[in-house]
Order: sequence, then structure tokens, then C-alpha cells
Amino acid sequence: MSGPIICKVCNLALDGFTNEDGVTYLHTLSDAMDGKDINHEPVPIQAPPGWRGHCDFCTAGVPKFVVPARDFTTPGSPMGFSTGDWAACETCALLVAAGRWDSLVKRAAKHFERRMHFPMPSKSRSAVRRLYYKLAANITGPIRPLDGEEGK
Ligand SMILES: [Zn+2]
Ligand SMILES: [Zn+2]
Repeated sequence: MSGPIICKVCNLALDGFTNEDGVTYLHTLSDAMDGKDINHEPVPIQAPPGWRGHCDFCTAGVPKFVVPARDFTTPGSPMGFSTGDWAACETCALLVAAGRWDSLVKRAAKHFERRMHFPMPSKSRSAVRRLYYKLAANITGPIRPLDGEEGK
């Protein structure tokens, strides 16, 4: 199983997009919106073991759990497709385990609004909801704590 793809220059997670040339990796929308320093060509590398990004759901929390998932494509979503497992912070992991996908969408929208100082557009909201429901159908097993936590 492959780990996340990150940018060698800025150490941030990258999103993959498929097109006729194969896969292109770009800096994430949320990092761009956060005003992070991403004004360079992304240099995709495999994340080293122990690398921690942010929660894949709310983008605010520190990931503590892994939601095991198959790769899947999400037409019309800003993510394009999802590769492998999702990282989740404690709160999001609880919501995923409880199947509270609408609460997860609300949580993502709330963090978006905090970052951007305007509400998440309803179009993005429905894209996020579609993405989460697609993920729900592709979860392959129980949520587990992130590996390597005990090695700190
Ligand atoms: Zn970068
Ligand atoms: Zn979270």
C-alpha cells in the first residue's frame, strides 16, 4: 500500500488529478486558501514514514486515525480521485465510525468558513458530501490508530 504523496519543496500533501497524460499532482486547494507558500512547481515524492499532514476531513485537526479505503474516483469533486487511506483527527474519526457523514460535511464547512471568512459555497458543500458518501462506500475495514504513535 502506498503512502501519501507530498511536495519535496514545502512538505505539504498533494492532491492527484488524472488526465490523458496520466496523473498530475498539485498543491491542495485548502493549502492555497490558507495562504501557505505554494508559489512553486510541486515536486511530488512519496511521504517518508512518520510524516503527518492534517486531517483529510476537516483539514484542521492533527491526524490520529486511519480510515482504510480503496482508491476511487469522484467525478465533479475538487479532489478528482482519492488514493488509499484517509487520515482523520479524533473528532472526525468518531464521526466516521458513527456514519455521521452530514456532520462531517458541516464540520468541513465550518473550518472552511473560519479560514476564508465566508461560508462554503453550496456547490462545494455538495461536492464534499458526494466525496464523503463515495468514501463511505469504499471503506475497507475498521478505523485504526495511526501506526508509529507508540514510537515517539
Ligand atoms: Zn510545494
Ligand atoms: Zn478532522
